[in-house]
Amino acid sequence: MRLTLLLLLAFVSLPAQNPDWSAPFPAHTIAGNLHYVGTKDLACYLITTPQGHILINTGLADSVPLMQASAKKLGFDLKDVKILLTMQAHYDHVAAFAAVQKLSGAKVYATEGDAAYLEDGGKSDPLFLAFADQDFSFKPVKVDRRLKDGETVKLGGTEVKVISLPGHTRGAAGYSVNGVLIVNLPSVVIKLMGNKAYPNIVADYEATFVKLKQLHPTAWVAGHGSQYDLEAKYAKKSFVDPDGYTKAVVSYEKTFKEKLAKEHASR
Ligand SMILES: [Zn+2]
Repeated sequence: MRLTLLLLLAFVSLPAQNPDWSAPFPAHTIAGNLHYVGTKDLACYLITTPQGHILINTGLADSVPLMQASAKKLGFDLKDVKILLTMQAHYDHVAAFAAVQKLSGAKVYATEGDAAYLEDGGKSDPLFLAFADQDFSFKPVKVDRRLKDGETVKLGGTEVKVISLPGHTRGAAGYSVNGVLIVNLPSVVIKLMGNKAYPNIVADYEATFVKLKQLHPTAWVAGHGSQYDLEAKYAKKSFVDPDGYTKAVVSYEKTFKEKLAKEHASR
């Protein structure tokens, strides 16, 4: 009885990490100089230019060898990364920032909202307060430049537009490059109502959904492979899916509204 309870508690407090987060996935080109170097589920995007590269997301702390193998398959090297960006400063996307920076000397650019988490290794993230029994920390990095909504990151003739999409984290962001939208789909992972660690969370999510509905991309990808059906799209060699985008946004908004309603009801 006691053992069962202990096992149950262990299961509840330490859910097994998604194996797809560390499973390799074939490196591929999405459009022009925008490439995929992530795992089966944790999307990492390498934007290559003659003056070095931009890397969006890094996956888990031990993901550098997999990413480097992917970059090399495409004929590039992570040593040439000049700028590191993220879509959300959670450990499953930024835990290897420090390792990539050590390898390449890349500068870190981040939105104001996520810069604080990157600099304290996630310790001030409301996610920490929400799951106090779990360690979501990662090796901190210094943020070299703070990005604003609508701003453009330029390198070697390529322009990457920053699209602020707060809610999932305070500084969650998407990017637009080569006509492809790299979207951070706003899943809900912490309490919405009366969240003292993130008082503006509901308004941020609502504004993000308004913005997402105005974007209308033809080609798009997301922060997790599972969010945009990576396997099927890779097999088809096409990331054009305007209807899939609309459906995804509607579905994420529905989930958000349901969670909010549930919190209202249980007050
Ligand atoms: Zn997250």
